[in-house]
Amino acid sequence: MRDFSHLNLTYIKGIGPKRAELLKKELGVETALDLLMHYPVNYLDRTQITHIANFYGEEMNSVQIKGRFISFNTVGEGAKSRLTAIFSDGTALLEVVWFRKIKEIRKIYDLNKEYILFGSAKKFHQKWSIIHPEIDVPDAVTAQQGFRSVYPLTEKLRNAGINSRILMKWISVIISEKFELPEVIPLRILKKRNFPSRAQALKDIHFPTNKDALNRARERMKYEELYFLQLDIIKYTQTRNKDLKGYRFVRIGEYFNNFYRIALPFQLTEAQKRVIREIRQDVNSGRQMNRLLQGDVGSGKTMVALMVMLIALDNGFQACLMAPTEILAQQHFETLKELASQCGVTIALLTGSTRKKEREEIHDKLLNGDLQIIVGTHALIEDTVQFKQLGLAIIDEQHRFGVVQRAKLWKKNHGQLPPHVLVMTATPIPRTLAMTVYGDLEVSVIDELPPGRKPIETVLRYENQRNQVYASLGRELAKGRQAYIVYPLIEENEKLDLKSLEEGYELIKDTFPHYKVAMVHGRMKQAEKDWQMQLFASGQANILVATTVIEVGVNVPNATTMIIENAERFGLSQLHQLRGRVGRGGDQSHCILMSKIKIAKETRKRLEIMTSTTDGFVVAEADLKLRGPGDLEGTMQSGIAFDLKIASLATDGQILQIARDDAKDTLDRDPELILTEHIETKKELLSRNNNSIDFSRIS
Ligand code: ADP
Ligand code: MG
Repeated sequence: MRDFSHLNLTYIKGIGPKRAELLKKELGVETALDLLMHYPVNYLDRTQITHIANFYGEEMNSVQIKGRFISFNTVGEGAKSRLTAIFSDGTALLEVVWFRKIKEIRKIYDLNKEYILFGSAKKFHQKWSIIHPEIDVPDAVTAQQGFRSVYPLTEKLRNAGINSRILMKWISVIISEKFELPEVIPLRILKKRNFPSRAQALKDIHFPTNKDALNRARERMKYEELYFLQLDIIKYTQTRNKDLKGYRFVRIGEYFNNFYRIALPFQLTEAQKRVIREIRQDVNSGRQMNRLLQGDVGSGKTMVALMVMLIALDNGFQACLMAPTEILAQQHFETLKELASQCGVTIALLTGSTRKKEREEIHDKLLNGDLQIIVGTHALIEDTVQFKQLGLAIIDEQHRFGVVQRAKLWKKNHGQLPPHVLVMTATPIPRTLAMTVYGDLEVSVIDELPPGRKPIETVLRYENQRNQVYASLGRELAKGRQAYIVYPLIEENEKLDLKSLEEGYELIKDTFPHYKVAMVHGRMKQAEKDWQMQLFASGQANILVATTVIEVGVNVPNATTMIIENAERFGLSQLHQLRGRVGRGGDQSHCILMSKIKIAKETRKRLEIMTSTTDGFVVAEADLKLRGPGDLEGTMQSGIAFDLKIASLATDGQILQIARDDAKDTLDRDPELILTEHIETKKELLSRNNNSIDFSRIS
């Protein structure tokens, strides 16, 4: 027997160069093994035949019926023509309709011969009909199986006559006796986990004989996918760690200690303390730190950032903090300046709008070491910014920074070691995903809010309740509180959205004539934006009408109400980020999700997740389940684009954990995979790597 898993598909009868090309283009399927790894999305119990007389409702999805054609009839002419047939299963009649390949179909099927039809039937004018069903002869090869696989297909493939039944036929050819598939998971693990062999699993996935075998097969193939993904990531991480030496921050000195004793305005939470300890270990390990700090909005990441920067200073290094927007950089700068200047730290702000003269002065002072901390925007990564001794770079709200920009920071010290890197994000990435996506980053989590915070009350309100919503907003304003009113701004619709924002602004001004209303949106000039924000932040304006530009980081503790207009147009994670702008002081805060009256049931369910929890991780998990990991904000920019065929990061966390443990163990035993027992494992890893990501390019 020979392994023909990597053989070209044209080897199979029925697949010529044209179809091979189409399969490659539409499904990325090139070899026999690729086809085996094109997994069914669903299974139908072949023994399940429904009587037409028992159809109910308006539509019967994925039904199978068995019976005979009793007449064929061609209607219309030319491009508009169609073929209809009357089909009887002995209990009732049903109409079958074809719009394509009419002549061929008329020839293939005979009257009064038994067929099995599969498809979705619809009721029109009290009569059932089915369009382009899949048709089987009861004694076909595939009919011996208990289940029939349903494959994901594209419109183009269907038009070319490629359907689930044909795929099954081709796959059955591959899984014939001629076929041998080497095992790629080490036998040791296969035994320990009690998995079926690869060949068996693939057979069971396409032609399951019972549910049990199917479940075991699916589990094994999910495991396999995740095991190789983890081997890849762990291997990359190990090489990187080995190569990258880092500065040692051995001392905890005056800056840190003085600040802790004298200037720290509150008690750190246990979570903050734990994270600082984790970071201290990293920066004293002799290797470069690459750590992701996750913490829900308001959990106090900035304070952690400052204290870690002080450790850098205590060891004679400089530190920088980079933020994604001017407003945020400005805000960080003011917070840090107030705190740090009490300990005699020199600190400056560098953004795109810093004047030339001041900019040059900052450049000089960074180079000669007079400046210890620099806060800024992207302006910090320009080549002209060079440091005397940059020991630590902190990046806030990571999802706005690409991997490339992260890497640029490393080159700020000529010929010396790269700075330690701490990436802070409020986008709560579920652990399962973090492990996979940020395999190269260690992860710390602040999972506790400072004491005294009241959970934000979130409600869903409809357009016809606007008056009540404004009435309760009026009561909050009367107490001296401030409010955000947020509008979506989506690119394709920019003009319309701008209009609704401006109309909203006028409406609010009319409704609350005694209050001052500020407005910001992405189309404004930077200076105007800053001015409007400043009005609100300083308390001069009571209401801020804004687009999502306020999504990240703005801190106005007196703002206790947020109204989000057209909430149905936002993603859950984004709603959570927005909501985090309120609830930052000791007062009860409110978030009102406004929606039009008629929304789909799923949309309402989605929004109800927001009203039922304030836990960012729960929201993120739900978001992940609803949208799939590919859409999760931030993961795309992480630079790792992988494509899982069968496993799901949202639901297969347990398998992922096992796969990760086993992958670690495998590499501990045999770092280069040179043992005989790992020959096939290594081959598979290399072949998977060929068409996946190049980890060496990621910082
Ligand atoms: P985020 O994690 O969203 O960046 P911040 O660092 O902006 O959060 O902190 C939010 C607010 O909580 C700030 O006003 C900050 O001063 C305050 N804060 C941070 N840590 C604590 C603490 N341990 N106790 C009380 N207040 C805290
Ligand atoms: Mg923050």
